[in-house]
Amino acid sequence: MNRRIALQMLSAAASCALAGHAGQVWAQARKIKPGPTSVLLVIDVQNCFIAGGTLAVPHGEDVAPIINRIAPAFQNVVLTQDWHPAGHASFASSHPGSKPFETIQLAYGEQILWPDHCVQGTADAALDRDLNIPQAELIVRKGFHRDIDSYSAFKEADRSTATGLEGYLHERGIKRVFAAGLATDFCVAWTALDARAAGFETYVIEDACRAIDLHGSLAAAWEHMTQQGVQRIRSTDIAL
Ligand SMILES: [Zn+2]
Repeated sequence: MNRRIALQMLSAAASCALAGHAGQVWAQARKIKPGPTSVLLVIDVQNCFIAGGTLAVPHGEDVAPIINRIAPAFQNVVLTQDWHPAGHASFASSHPGSKPFETIQLAYGEQILWPDHCVQGTADAALDRDLNIPQAELIVRKGFHRDIDSYSAFKEADRSTATGLEGYLHERGIKRVFAAGLATDFCVAWTALDARAAGFETYVIEDACRAIDLHGSLAAAWEHMTQQGVQRIRSTDIAL
């Protein structure tokens, strides 16, 4: 190899290395960096919704490691727990002749009936033991009124009873909400829609959620969320 060709090859290699570095910098710059006014909402990552639970979401146990990986990027983390009294109105067993996954009318409207799940104080209602977010500052429990279900972390299913989370986040100066957990098409979607309605910039971290997908509910939930301005992102979009 003569000297000129060798120099050209060196020069080309240096350009590639520079371009690669610039690409990395650019990719990093495009990532979302949660600041002091962002919160990660970890929705219902509980034993009842993972393998072995009373209302297991398919692959629900896969979300804890993903959420654990991104949680340190957040200065604020709030967890929720579905937290029902025995005999709750959302349980099929509370309505003689009804079966899980049927729909009935309650005082506030249509309600899907579920198997008994997340009963207060049981191991089934405890947080997934693989969830490792010691810095989480608040746990919001929802669905504790016997006659009202609550998918959303903000407002219960009668659409008027507040959980108090909106007031907490506003008082803490939070502007951006990032939602992850279970299940995408129910508690995560309702939470994200209510976050938008309350004026928060809202993101759902898709791969940090798993869905139930009952009668097309997952596609419907994404369509509704997108219409309302919820941003659909992946855990790799967050700067760690
Ligand atoms: Zn429930």
